[in-house]
Amino acid sequence: MEQNPFGGKYSCLIKDLEPDCEKCSGLCCVALYCAKTDGFPADKGAGTPCQYLSPDFRCGIHADLKDRKMSGCLAYECLGAGQKTTQIDSSGGDWKTDPGRAETIFQTFSVLFQLHQILWYLIEAASLTSDEKTAAAVDALIRENQQMTQLPHGSLLKAGIAGHKSKANNLLKKIIGSISAEDPASRQKADFFGKNFRKTNLDRKDFSMSLLIAADLEGCSLDRTVFLGADLRDANLKNTDLSRSVFLTQMQINSAKGNRNTRLPAGLRRPSAW
Ligand code: SF4
Ligand code: SF4
Repeated sequence: MEQNPFGGKYSCLIKDLEPDCEKCSGLCCVALYCAKTDGFPADKGAGTPCQYLSPDFRCGIHADLKDRKMSGCLAYECLGAGQKTTQIDSSGGDWKTDPGRAETIFQTFSVLFQLHQILWYLIEAASLTSDEKTAAAVDALIRENQQMTQLPHGSLLKAGIAGHKSKANNLLKKIIGSISAEDPASRQKADFFGKNFRKTNLDRKDFSMSLLIAADLEGCSLDRTVFLGADLRDANLKNTDLSRSVFLTQMQINSAKGNRNTRLPAGLRRPSAW
């Protein structure tokens, strides 16, 4: 397996998947539904600005998020969907200066987030297959994804992403099937809430979409372990080598508990809280 899936042919696409809050209108702090129990300041509906969002779209309590235990705010990553939404059609204003377009802007943010997430997985998928036909299918989907993310807001929403999503899901399942010993078609979403896996060999295990909230994965062997869409909130990743685990995202890592001995796959950053 390639050591850095994000360092090859598609490395030029990675910068678009990094949030740039300076170029954004604070979309995650407005567009999303938030719950206090998930580590946000208060329950709020989608489309309602957070009480701490400043007029300049900065977080008014950014420096205190850790002390205030705002784990939801600290974990969230938009994969670059925020600034892209803000910049496409920026001549039309933002959700605040042009409230008539706010709903379209929020929906676009949601769609672009999903497209960027698919792109993240596809780029990693490209490094996980040596089969030429599968590689060509991944390449075609990456190009389709790129075309869709360049569309203006209205056209993107009209185009819909269901077909693209379905093709990507099927391809990812096929690739996961070639990595894992388990059959992805028959795998059910599994609940491992709080489960103690400490020091277990979980190589090639498929945890796709599993609930691993507060699970203890400390010291596990996780070579080509699949974490696609798994909920890792408060999972213990201390002293654990995830460098060869696959389909992890920054948001999953941000929501888990690790330390300086935790090793991460290429392309992911160590959260400052670790
Ligand atoms: S939506 Fe993304 S870019 Fe915008 S403020 Fe939130 S994290 Fe930053
Ligand atoms: S507390 Fe800050 S980061 Fe969290 S939702 Fe509110 S403005 Fe955004």
